[in-house]
Amino acid sequence: MLRASARVNLAAIERNCARLREAAGAGSSLCAVVKANAYGHGAVPVARAALAGGASRIAIATANEAAELRAAGIEEPLLLMGALTAEELALALESGADLVAWRASFVEALRRGARARPVRVHVKLDVGMGRVGTRDADELLRLAEAIHAAPELELAGAMTHLPCADEDPAITRAQVARFRAFGERLRALAPGLVLHAANSAATLAVPESRLDMVRCGVAIYGLDPFGVDPGAHGLEPALELRTWVAALKPLAAGESVGYGSTFTAAAPTWIATLPVGYGDGYRRAFSANAEALIGGRRHPLVGRVSMEYVTVDVGPAPRGIAEGDEVVLLGSQGEERIAAEELARRIDTINYEITTALTARPTRAYHRDGAEA
Ligand SMILES: *Cc1c(COP(=O)(O)O)cnc(C)c1O
Repeated sequence: MLRASARVNLAAIERNCARLREAAGAGSSLCAVVKANAYGHGAVPVARAALAGGASRIAIATANEAAELRAAGIEEPLLLMGALTAEELALALESGADLVAWRASFVEALRRGARARPVRVHVKLDVGMGRVGTRDADELLRLAEAIHAAPELELAGAMTHLPCADEDPAITRAQVARFRAFGERLRALAPGLVLHAANSAATLAVPESRLDMVRCGVAIYGLDPFGVDPGAHGLEPALELRTWVAALKPLAAGESVGYGSTFTAAAPTWIATLPVGYGDGYRRAFSANAEALIGGRRHPLVGRVSMEYVTVDVGPAPRGIAEGDEVVLLGSQGEERIAAEELARRIDTINYEITTALTARPTRAYHRDGAEA
């Protein structure tokens, strides 16, 4: 047993990818997004599982993330989506990833940095996210023409990112229509380029957004892009957070537990202490605001979550619970299940942040439906 482990089912990730490919349809390929250490799941094993599940490309956000995949021997096409500083450019180019451009000065830097083979570039239209990308389609078309004309570069694609795909299909359809119109103009220039817009939510909910490729992140991990129930879309959660009962102690009425003594027993009870805390990415906001599965049942957290420990009230007569028992904080045990969507609701965030918050400290343990991976 490990102190705390994030157990990841790679077979579930493969099946989720197969499910998303099916949703995307025959005309569209799957790009699996493994930025931020694959939303906490571990970028390298997830990238391999996604490729095995039918993804034909892997997307990341930073130059370091691209370099990590290459260092692990992953040779499939990469799409480096994020903004890059001049300092990061050499590493990004060395990775051979496709890069995303929306500014002329960046395109010039790419031309100067290019070496043996042409750098594959995607241009980015901003249809409403308002962060990076170019809002003016005419201006972006001129940039695409400059890329197309540059011998050091290859115009490989065009993309946009949809801000409301999980909430508003009507707005999303209108944004996709604008992007499509831009894409048609680009196609006249470079017929083979790849148009892509959809994230997980759009892939599942807005058929018009699927275009030539979909970029799915959250759904490949079996998390619901709509924050409710992944099962409703045929997705299986891949990650479980497990720990163990490191101490089981009686607490007399009037005695307290944890920093600030925020919990005082009204009546005698037993406290199970679990060696996991916000140093592992199990958020302090779960203090007295989440449950742990021990012996197949839910038990409430009491007191504060600290850096190393969580305390659980297992009641006045904890039958069938002993020091050394396995505990599940995220995932299932027996008939019970704690979903990332439940944890997110408890602390007013999104499921994305629940798994991405996991630090390097909990050991990542990989398996395939329970068998050694
Ligand atoms: C993170 C990201 C995605 C994936 O979004 P999900 O909602 O996790 O599917 C797609 N495109 C871009 C540009 C992203 O940054």
